[in-house]
Amino acid sequence: MEKYNVIVIGSGPGGYIAAIRSAQLGFKTAIVERYTTLGGTCLNVGCIPSKALLDSSEQYYNALTKFKAHGINIGDMKLDFTQMIKRKAEVVKQTCDGVAYLMKKNKIAVITGHATFISPKSISVGEQTFEADNFIIATGSKPSTIQGVTIDKQRIITSTEALSLKEVPAKMVIIGGGVIGLEIGSVYARLGTKIQVVEFTDKIIGNMDSGLGKELQKVLQKEGFEFYLSHKVSSATVKDNEITVTATDSQNKTLTFTGDYCLVAVGRKPYTENLGLDKAGIKTDARGFISVNEKLETGVTGIYAIGDVVRGVMLAHKAEEEGVFVAETIAGQKPHIDFNLIPGVIYTWPEVASVGQTEEQLKQKGVSYKTGGFPFKASARARASMDTDGFVKVLSDSKTDEVLGIHIIGPRAADIIGEAAVAMEFRASAEDIGRICHAHPTYSESLKEAALDAYDKKPLNL
Ligand SMILES: Cc1cc2nc3c(=O)[nH]c(=O)nc-3n(C[C@H](O)[C@H](O)[C@H](O)COP(=O)(O)OP(=O)(O)OC[C@H]3O[C@@H](n4cnc5c(N)ncnc54)[C@H](O)[C@@H]3O)c2cc1C
Repeated sequence: MEKYNVIVIGSGPGGYIAAIRSAQLGFKTAIVERYTTLGGTCLNVGCIPSKALLDSSEQYYNALTKFKAHGINIGDMKLDFTQMIKRKAEVVKQTCDGVAYLMKKNKIAVITGHATFISPKSISVGEQTFEADNFIIATGSKPSTIQGVTIDKQRIITSTEALSLKEVPAKMVIIGGGVIGLEIGSVYARLGTKIQVVEFTDKIIGNMDSGLGKELQKVLQKEGFEFYLSHKVSSATVKDNEITVTATDSQNKTLTFTGDYCLVAVGRKPYTENLGLDKAGIKTDARGFISVNEKLETGVTGIYAIGDVVRGVMLAHKAEEEGVFVAETIAGQKPHIDFNLIPGVIYTWPEVASVGQTEEQLKQKGVSYKTGGFPFKASARARASMDTDGFVKVLSDSKTDEVLGIHIIGPRAADIIGEAAVAMEFRASAEDIGRICHAHPTYSESLKEAALDAYDKKPLNL
């Protein structure tokens, strides 16, 4: 029986980063993955393929709707959707191969197969058994559904199938107005699909600052999205390749939506199937997440869990930070993660990005705060690129001026939020950000302006 210092179960961003850091710290490390390609949800059916298709569809949409204004006439344009999907598959393959290379480079043993605990110190993978001093569970998540909606993977689909369709749907009904539904909806809306989003709550992207959701809804409506908020879906059925989704609105009126595909994007659930948690004595909470303490250790000494399978936001970079954290904890170091400063991004266009507290959270906690804002329509850089939708919002403590939250909807918001996270890690004040020299003309100047607005209501360009 082969024995390791650390065995990581699952090769998503949490698992493969945990394995690399463990190997870097001198541990004899193995990683187990049930699929033949490494990279988990993120690389195979999540972050990477969705961004590849978002980029392709954005190019197409811009060529169709914006090039003319830039003085570029390209005549008759044709969409080659098969090529678009093929390019996405190539990007995924390159990225997954990159992880395989990193495993080799760091001398990490890759074990292919489904891992099941047989005791707190050992697992079986097929016919083989492996022992380790420490296990890091990084088994991730799977799409969930709601009562009355059975996913058939043909017409009633999850994000996984939506990223590999063989045709551009004429009409897609999306259940759920969260990040995954809106990103995939954006891909297809840009390619000409009529998108109808049916959402249970009264807003989209409900866990972000509410100003962002309102603005995003406005922009997506201009792209042709239809939103049905406060609608509770009760069923989804398929007949002759047509789907019908039934929902009731807040007045209890029943509505039906038809289309050729129904995308179920109502969230994801932790995945621990056949992991043998009971054999190791590992507990889960009421929602199926593996219970961990502040060191990400389960109730069993030497068994840790990270990423989507434990509490917290389901994001690749959160899983990665936890992977590093656990490897360093096993090595006796004292790592730190500020879970308040994990940025969240939605890759629609304009992008949406956020870090820190939302205005709603500050109100709820009774924190006294100041607000600063700057609209992209006042940005010269945004005017040059014709990307004037959106704004930056800075929230800072009304007594100390410390930045408490930064919320952006606008061009390259996903990149600007990096500066916001750095500033907040170093506990910057709004004045600090406002006094930092930003290159001109850049989208990031809008963050400086919003910070000045939060500091003393004297932005320079508004
Ligand atoms: C469409 C979509 C788009 C997304 N876009 C983004 C984005 O832009 N940015 C972002 O931060 N996040 C994004 N996410 C979320 C992101 O993919 C997840 O948060 C991230 O993958 C979680 O990483 P993880 O390591 O915890 O688990 P996963 O990536 O889910 O990996 C878990 C791995 O464990 C393997 N496994 C499970 N059980 C076993 C077992 N018993 N034995 C062996 N192997 C096992 C699985 O096969 C899988 O490969 C997106 C998700 C989706 C679905």
